[in-house]
Amino acid sequence: MDLLEYQGKQLFARHGVPVPDGRHATSVEEAVAASDEVGFPCVVKAQVQIGGRGKAGGIKLAKDRDEVREHAEAILGMDIRGLTVHELWIEGASEIASEYYASVVFDRSAKAPLLMLSTKGGMDIEEVAAEDPAAIARLHVDPLVGFQDFQGRRLAFEAGVDADVVRPVGAMLAKLYEVFLSEEATLVEVNPLIVTPSPGGDGGGRQVKALDAKVTLDDNALFRHPDNAQLRDISAEDPQERMAKERGLIYVKLDGDIGILGNGAGLVMSTLDVVAEAGGSPANFLDAGGGSKAEAITSAVEVILSNPSVKAVLFNIFGGITRCDEVARGLIEAFHQINPDVPFVVRLDGTNDEEGRRLLAEAKLPNVHTESTMDGAAQKVVELAAAAEVPAA
Ligand code: GDP
Ligand code: MN
Repeated sequence: MDLLEYQGKQLFARHGVPVPDGRHATSVEEAVAASDEVGFPCVVKAQVQIGGRGKAGGIKLAKDRDEVREHAEAILGMDIRGLTVHELWIEGASEIASEYYASVVFDRSAKAPLLMLSTKGGMDIEEVAAEDPAAIARLHVDPLVGFQDFQGRRLAFEAGVDADVVRPVGAMLAKLYEVFLSEEATLVEVNPLIVTPSPGGDGGGRQVKALDAKVTLDDNALFRHPDNAQLRDISAEDPQERMAKERGLIYVKLDGDIGILGNGAGLVMSTLDVVAEAGGSPANFLDAGGGSKAEAITSAVEVILSNPSVKAVLFNIFGGITRCDEVARGLIEAFHQINPDVPFVVRLDGTNDEEGRRLLAEAKLPNVHTESTMDGAAQKVVELAAAAEVPAA
């Protein structure tokens, strides 16, 4: 999983890697408020999972509120190589004396983490590697021994960083390695890692900071990092799809007005076809799997009904291992909990279907129509959705 720059910087900050003070914003107003907090001048940075934002016009310096507003308006909604910008990061501007490059990656062939450092930062590192490979200093860390402080200083020295910042750069590498290890990342990259000018002009007191952050986390280790697992780029996801994912359901949103729920992907696919054949337009694909428990059904129905376009729902179950009587009990319980205001057509077929239909009939759920064939169910649900189009008198 790739993190956005600001998420990477927030991880950095937690591990003591120096980063500029910044705030997250998703609107022009939020960006202006954020700039008041971080102060001026500040930088307005597009948050998309792609490099080269600077060149694409996604990173702008602002000297006052008006410029923040102007840049935020231009950057939000901007397309950066196929990615739409929905989020901004506003941070205090940094003065830059030098731009370096630092990274930690997992080198599979060496079976060890690899640290890289170069004074040729701020530009595409692949280019540097191709044109001037000697400009990148490299060091493998023995995973059993761990990172030793002298290694950071040695790498800084080998890369040729300015003498006064060998120690702070070495210290930053140690912290980046700690991020890599403890967050179970497969990549931690800082480009540029900057050196600030000397505040007194006497060459002393220069600082190093991570001005950009690119972090890739190991998906297979995310279960050990629940906080990180929540960092997924949710702005790009549809709210219903996100809700379904959180509930462990397989759901795809479609454009129509008939909610579809079935057990098994194949059955759901053919249900979409049959509904379309009957003249209807499905609102989603939802495979509830083999679950027949009320909880699972309630959860699935809630996801379907969270889509305001849905005018009627087709619940199509073919009982194999799943027993239709259990599904019916689950559905009855689910209906008592959520009390939906759109009509449902329920088609139960297969194991214990008669018993299931009998239970549903006895429960006398309002607005629930039982059918025994798929064609009949599809026709009924299309009728009901069409009737719902007509505004009530
Ligand atoms: P990328 O283009 O997506 O890699 O985005 P970066 O975050 O690396 O920013 C690109 C470039 O913008 C950097 O290399 C800097 O030269 C410049 N930049 C970013 N933040 C600042 C800042 O606070 N001050 C100054 N002067 N330049 C900045
Ligand atoms: Mn960069």
